[in-house]
Amino acid sequence: MNTPVSKTMGQQSGRRSWAEPWKIKMVEPLAVTTREHREKALAEAGFNTFLLKSEDVYIDLLTDSGTSAMSDRQWAGMMLGDEAYAGSRNFYHLESAIQRFYGYKHIVPTHQGRGAEHLISRTVIKPGQLIPGNMYFTTTRVHQELSGGIFHDVIIDQAHDPANPHPFKGNIDLDKVQALIDRHGAKSIAYISVAGTVNMAGGQPVSMANIRALRALCNTHGIKVYLDATRMVENAWFIQQREEGYAGKSVAQILKEFCSYTDVAWMSAKKDSLVNIGGWLAVNDWDLFEELRNLVVVYEGLHTYGGLAGRDLEAMAIGIEESVQDDHVRSRIGQVQYLGDLLTAWGIPIVQPVGGHAIFLDARAFYPHLKQIEFPAQTLAAELYLDSGIRAMERGIASAGRDAKTGDHHYPKLELTRLTIPRRVYTQAHMDVVAESVKAVWDARASARGLDMVYEPKYLRFFQARFERL
Ligand SMILES: *Cc1c(COP(=O)(O)O)cnc(C)c1O
Repeated sequence: MNTPVSKTMGQQSGRRSWAEPWKIKMVEPLAVTTREHREKALAEAGFNTFLLKSEDVYIDLLTDSGTSAMSDRQWAGMMLGDEAYAGSRNFYHLESAIQRFYGYKHIVPTHQGRGAEHLISRTVIKPGQLIPGNMYFTTTRVHQELSGGIFHDVIIDQAHDPANPHPFKGNIDLDKVQALIDRHGAKSIAYISVAGTVNMAGGQPVSMANIRALRALCNTHGIKVYLDATRMVENAWFIQQREEGYAGKSVAQILKEFCSYTDVAWMSAKKDSLVNIGGWLAVNDWDLFEELRNLVVVYEGLHTYGGLAGRDLEAMAIGIEESVQDDHVRSRIGQVQYLGDLLTAWGIPIVQPVGGHAIFLDARAFYPHLKQIEFPAQTLAAELYLDSGIRAMERGIASAGRDAKTGDHHYPKLELTRLTIPRRVYTQAHMDVVAESVKAVWDARASARGLDMVYEPKYLRFFQARFERL
């Protein structure tokens, strides 16, 4: 594997480094705070990093969603916004970019990914139908459930083991899909919900062989395959690096081939596509498109703007083209890998292999003395913030929520704290500071106390829940 590794300058002769395929034209100052200030800010935020004010944060690794730096070309595109209510030229530019790079026929823009998830879920899911998927994603599953669907995890078992080095931990276990078909019949399945990469498993990719085999299985039973394409560009990079037969293909070629095995895709363009807001839904079937094109008017806006300004559509169209360049993806994932290499070298437990958009710290291994209901991953995010002002995010029991039927907590196997790297925003020096802070929190792990959830919202509770120290 062509891993971009970190090495001290000059130690290795013949060394060849990757570097960012851009230079910095404008900067945004960061605030450095004191520990005392952070103690106060965190208590006010109910120990939930989502409730911190960003001005109290130093290095913000909460999410890679909408936090990318746009290029000068994208900013120039913003000035070309055609703010007509209907038929904006920016919509046609976006439509052709999606057709060219993702390959789908019909496009509906939405304000962001969950807008697309809402429309597709309402349109195709009949109450009581099953939706097998390669691990859940929070907003995806909530829309599936609100439409009466029942989510079934069919990811391979290795994905639930943070130490397992499987190169394609996002893969679907076809035996699990077959078992659902045998037990309930193909008609009971709304569609297969595939995400590449799999966010909740640690940004882990799906192989081309796996999607091809899934497609063949689904063809035999007349089942549709839907794709959450949010980080599919990053998935394509992993295929290029790890899968036999793809080393000589470009990320763009791989992306298009992968999408060709699916019938529908939705996108949060706030991730791969290097914009601060935007999303889309794409289908190949004309009748389905007609329904969606009609429904988008009710919930998002006319089908040529979908809740976005013309300038947003233009930035997205340009961002799509920039996002599939091999040099871009190499440095984007290379930076994540750099941070992962530092932590791994220091023996800090993280999900392996390192995924595309984030480092996932294994909070169970940090805090074996905490029960899962004492929120180890939430605790770890809080401790990181207190140490250095770095903002991470919980991906464990708080994110997993409750069972829609029984009301009990879901107890996910993975209890992770995510350090998500925004695209084109931070430098390698920032990554050093982050790694050193994680090390300090790791060294102090024995003294950490857990948390109690004192306020719990009904939907997607992790965003707004409040905690107190035990
Ligand atoms: C972010 C995300 C979504 C939802 O998109 P939004 O733009 O945040 O509404 C859906 N799926 C995945 C995998 C995501 O990461």
